[in-house]
Amino acid sequence: MYDVVVIGAGIAGTFIARELSRYDLKIAIVEKTNDVANSTTMANSAIIHAGYDAPANKKKGYFNAKGNALYDQVCEELDVPFKRIGSLVVAFSEEDKITLQKLYDNGVEVGVPDMEILNQEQVLAMEPNLNQEILGALHAPSGGVISPWEMAIALAENAMENGAELFLNKEVKDMKKDDDKFTLYFEDGTMEAKYVINCAGLYSDKINNMVAAPLFEIKPRRGQYYILDKSEGNLVSKVIFQCPSEKGKGILVSPTVHGNLLVGPDSEPINNRDDISTSRDALDMIRETALLTCKNIPYGKVIRSFSGVRSTADYGDFIIGESPEVKGLINIGGFESPGLSSAPAVANYVVDLMKQITGGLTEKADFNPRRRPFIRFEELPEDEKAELVRKDPKYGRVICRCEVITEGEIVDAIHRKAGATTVKGVKKRTRAGMGRCQGGFCSPRVVEILARELKCDVKDIKLDGPSSYILSDRTKNVEE
Ligand SMILES: Cc1cc2nc3c(=O)[nH]c(=O)nc-3n(C[C@H](O)[C@H](O)[C@H](O)COP(=O)(O)OP(=O)(O)OC[C@H]3O[C@@H](n4cnc5c(N)ncnc54)[C@H](O)[C@@H]3O)c2cc1C
Repeated sequence: MYDVVVIGAGIAGTFIARELSRYDLKIAIVEKTNDVANSTTMANSAIIHAGYDAPANKKKGYFNAKGNALYDQVCEELDVPFKRIGSLVVAFSEEDKITLQKLYDNGVEVGVPDMEILNQEQVLAMEPNLNQEILGALHAPSGGVISPWEMAIALAENAMENGAELFLNKEVKDMKKDDDKFTLYFEDGTMEAKYVINCAGLYSDKINNMVAAPLFEIKPRRGQYYILDKSEGNLVSKVIFQCPSEKGKGILVSPTVHGNLLVGPDSEPINNRDDISTSRDALDMIRETALLTCKNIPYGKVIRSFSGVRSTADYGDFIIGESPEVKGLINIGGFESPGLSSAPAVANYVVDLMKQITGGLTEKADFNPRRRPFIRFEELPEDEKAELVRKDPKYGRVICRCEVITEGEIVDAIHRKAGATTVKGVKKRTRAGMGRCQGGFCSPRVVEILARELKCDVKDIKLDGPSSYILSDRTKNVEE
């Protein structure tokens, strides 16, 4: 029997599992898809929000700024790229300026450090490519950008190095609670646990409802984006938000942590929680709206559009805590934005809650907060590159030309704990396929490397999910 089963390997589940792996607990993470960070954590704005817009009287407000402050340390420990580039909320009207003041006041209340309201001249000195009609902006230097899936993968890897077990392709179909024990039902068997932490994102309400009366309902909202080539990543240096409305934080224009330019998202209610399609109408609206921020966004340099789905709850806030009805069930529900920013603080809160519920947790003497650093070949000095290639010639073979990713990095990403098993898995861990050609050149090579390293046939290598096959048979075997 496990002490704790964490359901869902997004940013919430992986942060909580990693923090709990500091203690003497038998932990399982169960994830229904074939990889870590395959749902909302894979498709969002990737901003570590400063926290000024999450209302102080809500859990979002309580956790956001606290979570933000924890990112430097965890990213350093786990070798995850994170850039505290700061953010601006820009004003184009007197009404917007009132909003800036409200955001500033709320930010002060929740503890956002070093904010300032800037006038037009100051903003344009900071960001010369912004629309010159700007009237002012709220500057929050603590805002940052990250790669959320790299963070979640690193957390899962570190949790596993500290004893947690990860089960992929393991969908919780049902759950029962008898006496002091939960039984989780999967297609291929059962698992028992003393405590269950529900981090199932878009399905967190369904998981709760398996053992308890409905507490909240997820009303999914989709957000769509454009991502532009790295040549345009310098258009702005900070995360630039338009003023927020009741629909969300407003359309942003921002560099990504890896130097691309991100434009989006909208906020559209949808019925199908898994619908990550994009639409011409929404993308056209985003394109037009973002031009208010910067008149010269070079849309000819778009390399991809994508969408992500927010697990917005009808409750109007995060649902975080032990179920009032079923002891031992901890829900992390309605974990929409700023969930990514809040996740480290939420994980610490869950650890404290577990200490209360269990009467105390014993720290492991040998907990290792660090993971083996990734070798990012392109970032090494020339002499270190040469030395590495001499030791392992796989680092001398560039597979992804756009992002300059070597075979050595791909092989490492496959063989780490929580390693890649699909083309998208390699892309998430190494960035092979994330560049200008979007995998046009490197995907066949990545398929070959995956098949060789996982000792399977190339036909068994999937792009992403179980039905996303790339090769079905040898050309000569296919009947006309
Ligand atoms: C458009 C958009 C923009 C956003 N921008 C930001 C931002 O800039 N900053 C920020 O802080 N936040 C942002 N967010 C919010 C942030 O992305 C989420 O808070 C966060 O990713 C949620 O993580 P999670 O772990 O709760 O959910 P998920 O990442 O969805 O993980 C849940 C996991 O549970 C698994 N699962 C579901 N059901 C089961 C089951 N029955 N059995 C086993 N596994 C199951 C799923 O497969 C999934 O992997 C944004 C969200 C969206 C959609």
